[in-house]
Amino acid sequence: MKCLVCNSTITGQYYQDYWGNKVCQSHIDNHEVTFCISCGSFVRFSDSTGDGRSLCNSCMASVISDAEQVEKLKKYVLRKFMDIGVFFNDKFLDSVNIDIVSPQKMAEIRKQPVNFQNKGLTQTHSCNTLGGRFLGFKDKFKHHIYMLSYLPKIEFTATLAHEILHIWQIENGIQLPPLKCEGLCNIGSYIIYENMSAQKASYYKKNLMESPDPIYGDGFRLIYSIYEQSGLEELFEMAKNYKL
Ligand SMILES: [Zn+2]
Ligand SMILES: [Zn+2]
Ligand SMILES: [Zn+2]
Repeated sequence: MKCLVCNSTITGQYYQDYWGNKVCQSHIDNHEVTFCISCGSFVRFSDSTGDGRSLCNSCMASVISDAEQVEKLKKYVLRKFMDIGVFFNDKFLDSVNIDIVSPQKMAEIRKQPVNFQNKGLTQTHSCNTLGGRFLGFKDKFKHHIYMLSYLPKIEFTATLAHEILHIWQIENGIQLPPLKCEGLCNIGSYIIYENMSAQKASYYKKNLMESPDPIYGDGFRLIYSIYEQSGLEELFEMAKNYKL
C-alpha cells in the first residue's frame, strides 16, 4: 500500500479518500494534503480559488466561468426537463439572469455567514400593479439565479438544475413545505448525475443520496421514494397538480 504523496509504503495510520487513494496520516495532520472541495479526492493543500478552497486539477479544469458555457448548460438542463414534462412559458428561460458570484457575495445576498456549501440561490421578484391585480392579471415573476464560483461542470449543472426547479415551482404556484420543496429540487440534481457522463458522478450522487441534512437529505429521500414508485413524469405531474 503506497502513499499518494510521498510514494512510500504505508505502515502506520493512513487516510483514504472516496476514490481509494491512501495517504500517510501525517500529510493530513500537517496540512500538506486536504480533500478536493468538489470531488473529495486528495489534493495538495492550495488555495486554488483564492478564497480558501482547494480544488484538484481535474475539477479545476472543468470549472464553469463564462456566460457562453452557462447558456449551454442551462439549455442542456432544460432539455432534460422537457423530456419528463417540465416546461416553462419562457421556453429557454432567456429572461432569467444567471450570475456567478464569490462565496463572499453569495453570503451577502443570503445575509448569512460564508458557507461553501451554498452553491446556488434563486431570487424572485413578482411584479404587478394594483390595477393589474384588480383586473385579475397574474403576477409576473422576475428570477435571478446566483451560482457559486469555481464549480466544476457536473456540480455546476446539478446546482443549476436544482435552482431551475425552484423557478418551476414558483411559476406553477406550487407551494411546498421546505422538506418537499428542496427534495423536489434535488431530484433535478439527481437527474443530472444520472445523465451527464462525468467520471466523478458517482461521488456527487452518493453525497446527494446520503446527505444527513434534515431538509435537503431527508427531503431528497422522501421525494426519491415517490419517484421510485411512480417515475419522474408522474412525480412532476403530481407536483403540478398540488398532490405532492
Ligand atoms: Zn506519505
Ligand atoms: Zn476534485
Ligand atoms: Zn433549494
